Amino acid sequence: MILILLGPPGAGKGTQAKEIARKRRLVQLSTGDMLRAAIAAGSPVGLQAKAVMATGGLVADEIVIQIIADRIEQPDCANGFILDGFPRTLAQAAALDAMLRARKLELAAVVEMKVDDEVLIDRVAGRFTCANKACGEGYHDRHKPTAKPGVCDVCGGTAFTRRPDDNAETMRTRLTAYYKETSPLIGYYFAKGLLQSIDAMAGIEDVTRSIDKLLGKPAAKATSVRTVTKRAQSAR
Ligand code: AMP
Repeated sequence: MILILLGPPGAGKGTQAKEIARKRRLVQLSTGDMLRAAIAAGSPVGLQAKAVMATGGLVADEIVIQIIADRIEQPDCANGFILDGFPRTLAQAAALDAMLRARKLELAAVVEMKVDDEVLIDRVAGRFTCANKACGEGYHDRHKPTAKPGVCDVCGGTAFTRRPDDNAETMRTRLTAYYKETSPLIGYYFAKGLLQSIDAMAGIEDVTRSIDKLLGKPAAKATSVRTVTKRAQSAR
């Protein structure tokens, strides 16, 4: 299954992508995470992206298209993937179409996550993540604090990070980029019959339920080849 999560910064794309990927054994492909990793590694791509990301603008199409083209070739993407933060422009969407067509792959759905603008700034300004790379659990000062102050619920780590672009001022530029460059994709995918819109104002678990509902039940582990073979045998 190949899925796109579409929505403004702060809509909860990353949070939902992680959960859906876990349940459906898909890979989460976040261009934002990949660019941040490139910055941390000091690679040429990272050097090009750093200044743009700090201001809240969009990184050049050629760069992100190449990142995704390389990434979907990796064997772990064979079972499907969730695109979180890509495509963000019509040029990226057209490039993705071409990439998928060349590989005889199809998009299952594009899920538009709708959130009121005033909520977005609040959501983004309060978020932080566990700094342990193997964990990376996401939190929010008010909506999802750690159970024990200063300790990650998942791995027990005590170091946390906040994204430098998660502040009210940069957020305004990111929102402008969303409305100018990314929101035309809503019409683009609607016209292709792929768009599914959900109310992403609800709590994290309710939003996951809405997405699950529109995608249908994940294939249970037991419906693997063995179970199907067994069923076929007993039907003979
Ligand atoms: P995100 O983590 O998705 O909020 O992305 C953080 C930042 O990375 C964005 O504000 C952009 O500067 C950059 N970025 C991520 N994905 C893309 C993309 N598909 N196209 C252009 N820039 C991107």
